[in-house]
Amino acid sequence: MKSIRSREHVYALSSDMKAAATAVPGETVVFETEDALGGQVRSEKDVLEQLDFARVNPATGPVEVVGAEPGDTLVVRIQRIDTADHGVALTGPGMGVLGDEASQHVTRVLSIENGCVRFDELRLPARPMIGVIGVAPAEGSHPTGTAHRHGGNMDTKEIGAGTTLYLPVFQPGAYLAMGDVHAAMGDGEVCVAGCEVAASVTVEVDVLKGRSPTWPTLETYDAVVVIVSLPTIGEALAEATRQGVRFLQRARRTSFEDAYILASLAMDVRVSQLVDPNKTAKAVISKRLFTGMVSEYL
Ligand code: CA
Ligand code: CA
Repeated sequence: MKSIRSREHVYALSSDMKAAATAVPGETVVFETEDALGGQVRSEKDVLEQLDFARVNPATGPVEVVGAEPGDTLVVRIQRIDTADHGVALTGPGMGVLGDEASQHVTRVLSIENGCVRFDELRLPARPMIGVIGVAPAEGSHPTGTAHRHGGNMDTKEIGAGTTLYLPVFQPGAYLAMGDVHAAMGDGEVCVAGCEVAASVTVEVDVLKGRSPTWPTLETYDAVVVIVSLPTIGEALAEATRQGVRFLQRARRTSFEDAYILASLAMDVRVSQLVDPNKTAKAVISKRLFTGMVSEYL
């Protein structure tokens, strides 16, 4: 089993990245990830405005996957996410959806124990998820703080252990990197942070030859989640709807109109995050709506 240390990281997903390691299809790789703040917050005295933003959103990797070619799909089976025993959440003026109502910078250090994130007297269920995960894009360089077709900062809470992420491959070797694990996050990530935590993420990588999803697509035990990131949430919601309907058309071999009606009856279009430079929406499609393998319909 291969392990990539957190010091092997990038701050942008670029078409010309250098590999930190190489893996073959079917291989298990452990990504040690720093928290999204680069480990700079150690106590509640460390607030957002003091941080060195050049060290925010490190993504461990990238890992070159042998045999992945443009037009293929990189399959990432997320086997486990082990987090540190505490995380941080923080906000301040100008941050997140209601940044103009926040009058001061506040940092909370949150302990994570027995499967729960402690917040005051509350024990929130810890549901570790990967905020930043993606591959080298078709061209140029995307900071790890943003998301698009190559993945990136999608902040989609369903990307957790036991799920499989299908990413389009744009460069030979795909170049997979990830970071920004959250121990807990609600849809929207409204204040700009989840429970930001260092982690160890174990994945198996694989390649599907000759086909590729238009947008990153996640398979959970009971659903397919098409993940779309665009400059406004309105655009992202509309495109997630379109891609969800297209998926139903393929999976049910049916007309646009019938898939559209079924989507209206049974597909959920939801917000993933409202706070990053591109906003992320998702179409959530129950596996009960079709038969066959998700990977056949990407
Ligand atoms: Ca994030
Ligand atoms: Ca984060």
